Amino acid sequence: MIDSNLPTPRTLVWFRRDLRVADHPALHEAVRKGGVIIPVYIHEDDPSSEWADGGATRWWLHHSLNRLDQTIRDLGGRLILRTGPPDEILPALVRETNANAVYWNRLYEPECVKRDTLIKRSLMERGLDVQSFNGNQLLEPWEIETNDGNPYKVFTPFYKTATAMGHPARPLPRPDALPSVSTHLPSDEIDSLGLLPTIPWDGGLQQAWRPGEDEAYAMLDAFGEEGSGDYKDDRDYPGIRGTSRLSPYLHFGEITPRSIYHKLGRSSRTEPYIRQLYWREFAHHLLYHFPHTVTDPLRPEFERFPWNDDPERLKAWQKGRTGFPIVDAGMRELWTTGWMHNRVRMITASFLVKDLLIPWQEGARWFWDTLVDADLANNTLGWQWTAGCGADAAPYFRIFNPILQSKKFDPDGDYLRTWLPELAELDTSAIHEPAAASDQTLKDAGVELGSTYPKPIVDHSDARDRALEAYDRIKGG
Ligand SMILES: Cc1cc2nc3c(=O)[nH]c(=O)nc-3n(C[C@H](O)[C@H](O)[C@H](O)COP(=O)(O)OP(=O)(O)OC[C@H]3O[C@@H](n4cnc5c(N)ncnc54)[C@H](O)[C@@H]3O)c2cc1C
Repeated sequence: MIDSNLPTPRTLVWFRRDLRVADHPALHEAVRKGGVIIPVYIHEDDPSSEWADGGATRWWLHHSLNRLDQTIRDLGGRLILRTGPPDEILPALVRETNANAVYWNRLYEPECVKRDTLIKRSLMERGLDVQSFNGNQLLEPWEIETNDGNPYKVFTPFYKTATAMGHPARPLPRPDALPSVSTHLPSDEIDSLGLLPTIPWDGGLQQAWRPGEDEAYAMLDAFGEEGSGDYKDDRDYPGIRGTSRLSPYLHFGEITPRSIYHKLGRSSRTEPYIRQLYWREFAHHLLYHFPHTVTDPLRPEFERFPWNDDPERLKAWQKGRTGFPIVDAGMRELWTTGWMHNRVRMITASFLVKDLLIPWQEGARWFWDTLVDADLANNTLGWQWTAGCGADAAPYFRIFNPILQSKKFDPDGDYLRTWLPELAELDTSAIHEPAAASDQTLKDAGVELGSTYPKPIVDHSDARDRALEAYDRIKGG
């Protein structure tokens, strides 16, 4: 129990996907109010739940919790970690600590909204001061609607209305100190959560990332105005570092979109980048208003789409062994680092749903398990957009040619050479499509198709015809 001589109020601050101390409205309000603050993280490990954390997410979470714990210790506090269902753990913690307030920042996934509403009601019935805040969005999903009072389904008008609402609130400062909580309050150990893999496959993740709030700000500084200014020209080229790579930090709430917005400012130079932040807002808007879209297409005619059940080709796609270098490079980047460049996400996703006719939900599941930025809102939007069945989606009949995309967006083959060392010796003229290279070219580069590198698992032009035929069958229905 907390020392009852300590001054009231006693506020539990429930950390969820807001693993930071700067610009944290729930923490800020607790500090402003004064008294004792009990920072809590509740780990709900339910592998049977539909969207249980994937392997890459668990890896990130382990490191992010360690960073947050250290930050809170440096401020004189302590992160209390508990495991179990929050609707049981929170009331138990309230009893244990004699807390009279519980604060948190809101989440927008359908299941979280339901759960948090029930928890809020039940704690308020016990007479507690329960408050939730907008900690993670530029605007909340319900703050904006079309002229006829409906949710937006098209990005551009959404963006126009959202930006016409003015600048988002300025970020809140980082607290100077956190009033200490009793050191006797029991807490689980982060290591005991078993978030790290038992078979160590995470070497690539360790090389690629340093999770945590400090690193998020360092990455933002490095990207800075120059990066956001060049973004328009560079963002589509996976072989150069043209994007901010802040997605996992945003997903875990180690940095907030408004901190990014106000750091970069809004100008014609930074506009293309800021616009992407609003795609994240749009994704949350859609998920909130159309919760079924995590598994079902937004456009109902796609429920009748004649998808293929093809475990072998699905495996080839997952492992980066399709014989299409840009697809394979992307899938290997994903497997190794837990991240993939946006342009390549679009190409690999299009290949799965259009060249292989494999349901987008299979791709979304694989991304969910392997991405360090796996995010229900953004992932659902990305997959439904690519498959042509979502809001403001790319039309289904617009089918990416993976070879032309590769030539256009990786003209020198740098990205391909990074992720496909077995093709590294091929000339730039041959690397995008080894199957079209002469025997001599392949031999000179040490490439043996079907042995050192796979032959293409489909013919793109036939696959394109099949996809269009399949689309004709559902169109207009
Ligand atoms: C099939 C598919 C699946 C995707 N799955 C995810 C996912 O699970 N998690 C995820 O965060 N993004 C996802 N995206 C969107 C996008 O690819 C990533 O946000 C982006 O590549 C992250 O890199 P970055 O931080 O360097 O982005 P930047 O280009 O630097 O953009 C800055 C931020 O804006 C947001 N953003 C950018 N593009 C988009 C977009 N198209 N939709 C929504 N938000 C966007 C992200 O939060 C990103 O960090 C997916 C896209 C596709 C096509």
